Amino acid sequence: MKELWSKRARALTPYIPGEQPRERKFIKLNTNENPYPPSPMALAAIREAACDTLRLYPDPECTNLREVLAASYGLKPNQVFVGNGSDEVLAMCFQAFFDPDRPILFPDITYSFYTVYADLFGLTYRQIPLDENFAVPREPFLEENGGIVIANPNAPTGRAISLSGVKAVLEGNPNSVVVVDEAYVDFGARSAVELVDCHPNLVVVQTMSKSRSLAGLRVGFAFANENLITALNSVKNSFNSYTLDRLALAGAEGALRDVGYLRATTMKIIHTRGYTACRLKSLGFQVVDSSANFLFVSHPDVAAKTLLDGLRERGILVRWFDKPRISNYLRITIGTDQEMEALCAALAELLGKEG
Ligand code: PMP
Repeated sequence: MKELWSKRARALTPYIPGEQPRERKFIKLNTNENPYPPSPMALAAIREAACDTLRLYPDPECTNLREVLAASYGLKPNQVFVGNGSDEVLAMCFQAFFDPDRPILFPDITYSFYTVYADLFGLTYRQIPLDENFAVPREPFLEENGGIVIANPNAPTGRAISLSGVKAVLEGNPNSVVVVDEAYVDFGARSAVELVDCHPNLVVVQTMSKSRSLAGLRVGFAFANENLITALNSVKNSFNSYTLDRLALAGAEGALRDVGYLRATTMKIIHTRGYTACRLKSLGFQVVDSSANFLFVSHPDVAAKTLLDGLRERGILVRWFDKPRISNYLRITIGTDQEMEALCAALAELLGKEG
C-alpha cells in the first residue's frame, strides 16, 4: 500500500539503530553508550532548568551553549552550530553542502547513516573501499567529488585517521566541503578542530552522546568557518528554529563546564578498552586497533552471528552487521570493568575455553 508514498520514500532503506530493550536486564554493549552517568554538573543544570524555565520557549540561537562550546574549543561563537544529536547535524550538512550532480565520497565501511541521508536527499555518492587493515586510503579521496564525509575514528571499525591524513584530504579538495564526523574522537583520536580557522572547507561534527554520557539528551554540534555555519543555520531555520529544548541546552552547558569529569571517565574507558582487548586476544579473537569506545573483533573458529546469538541468550547485547566483508565481526561497546568481565566469561564459555 505504498501508492500514496513519494517515489523517494518508497526507495528508502532507513537506518535501523541497535536494539534498545525496554527491560534493563541486559548488559548493553550494542549502541556505544557511555556506561557512566553524566557529569553531576550536567544533572544539576538540567534539574535547575526543569524547575525554573520550562514555561518559556528556548533560545532559538542557542547563544549560551554556542558561547560555552566556542570557549571550550578555542573558536568564536559564529563558528559553532548545534543540533538535536549529531545525526541531525549530519543531516543538515548533507542538505547544506552537497548537490545531486557530483558524488559525495565516503568509505565503504563507515557509519550507515551516510548512505541513508544521501538517498533521502536525492544525492549521489561513491564509496571508497577501506584497505585490508580497515584503514581509510588517501588517494581516492583526492578524485573529483562533490563533498566528502569521513568518520574519525571510523565506525564500526574504531580505526583513527591522523591529523596529517585529514589535512591532505582538505588540501586536495579546496572546492568541496569535507565533513569530519568525530562522534568518538575523545576516546583517543586527534581532533581536526584546530584546522577550522585555516580551512574554509572543513566541518567538524561532534556529539554529547558518547564521551559526555548524554545520548538521551540529543545534543550534537559542528565547528566550521562562519560562511559554512550560515549555510547550516539557513537549513535549520527552514526546518525548526527551536533546535534544542531548555533541558538539553542546560545539560550540555553543564557537561562542557565539567572538564575533569570528561577526562576521568574517558580515561577509565580507554583503560578498560586496553584490558578488554588483551582478554579477547587471549581467547583467540582478532581485535582491530581502536581509538573509540568500542572494539571491532572477529574469531577465526566461530561465526560472529553465532556469538551474537549466544551472548544474547546470556543477557549481553553486542552489535553485528549483516554486510559483506564485516559479517564475521562483532562491535562491542566498552562498558564498566564488571560488564567486560561478564562479556569475557560468556565468550569463553561459548568458545569452550577457560575465561
Ligand atoms: N556518527 C557516528 C559515527 C555514530 O556512530 C553516531 C552514533 N550512532 C552518530 C554520529 C550519531 O550520534 P548522536 O546522534 O547520538 O549524536
